[in-house]
Amino acid sequence: MQIGEFTVEQLSEGFFELFEDGTFQKMEPSRLDNLKDDPNIGKFTSAIGIDPLLIQTKEKNIIVDPGLGWGLDAGSSYRNTSNIVTNLDIFELTPEDIDIVILTHLHFDHAAGISYVSDDLSTLPTFPNARYFVHREEWEYALSQIDQENKLPGAGYKLDEIYKLVAEKRLHFIEEEIFSPIEGILTIKTGGHTPGHLVVKMKSNEEVAYFMGDLVPTEYHLNHYSMKQVDTDAIQSKKAKTLLLRQALKENAVMFFYHSLFRKSGQLSRDQHKKYILLNP
Ligand SMILES: [Zn+2]
Repeated sequence: MQIGEFTVEQLSEGFFELFEDGTFQKMEPSRLDNLKDDPNIGKFTSAIGIDPLLIQTKEKNIIVDPGLGWGLDAGSSYRNTSNIVTNLDIFELTPEDIDIVILTHLHFDHAAGISYVSDDLSTLPTFPNARYFVHREEWEYALSQIDQENKLPGAGYKLDEIYKLVAEKRLHFIEEEIFSPIEGILTIKTGGHTPGHLVVKMKSNEEVAYFMGDLVPTEYHLNHYSMKQVDTDAIQSKKAKTLLLRQALKENAVMFFYHSLFRKSGQLSRDQHKKYILLNP
């Protein structure tokens, strides 16, 4: 999809089921058909999509939230499935072509794909030439959480592999509330879901798009505030979400969702009951 001069694509890792112990498994595709008519879909996070974003400007290739890194590790029994690298291949890109990686936050379903374990069992960056951006508050919060027992399914931090990238100074810590790693791309600190959570705004030739991370993880969450169990500060989430959606509506922005099962993107609008809806694309 074009946003002004930017080409934006969702690199789907697939559909996953999230179990109570916090682990993920790829979902049987047939289960998705059963879910279609399920009135509770969206209320529960047990079935989710994982859709990293690829933004191509004239000079740079950017990935937002590289996902689980499914099947990338040596020895993984999922090596023959589609994953972020095979998805890049569809667009004739290799991991070496990625210049910038932005992490909305460090929960492992968003960030684990930044690295992989090679055949000789060393941890390597998935995108060897990229600069990785994350907010400093997110890093500090993640560090404070590693000794805590993880009570939130799917909302865990697994920092072992990230430490190495930090030690190699590959991670750039954003200090600002609003930061621009490259012209036309802004990170906006929202907090809420986690204290250092970011959303990403794209603007080119007056066309605007947002990647909302876990502030609005699916189309369902446009009109529902059902993230109380997984947000560290639900009130801040609601505040940031209300302001950003209002702004996005004014800008006729396209919204991209990371965890949707069905509707993964669309232009934000409102119906006659003032409910948010998505128009094509
Ligand atoms: Zn999260």
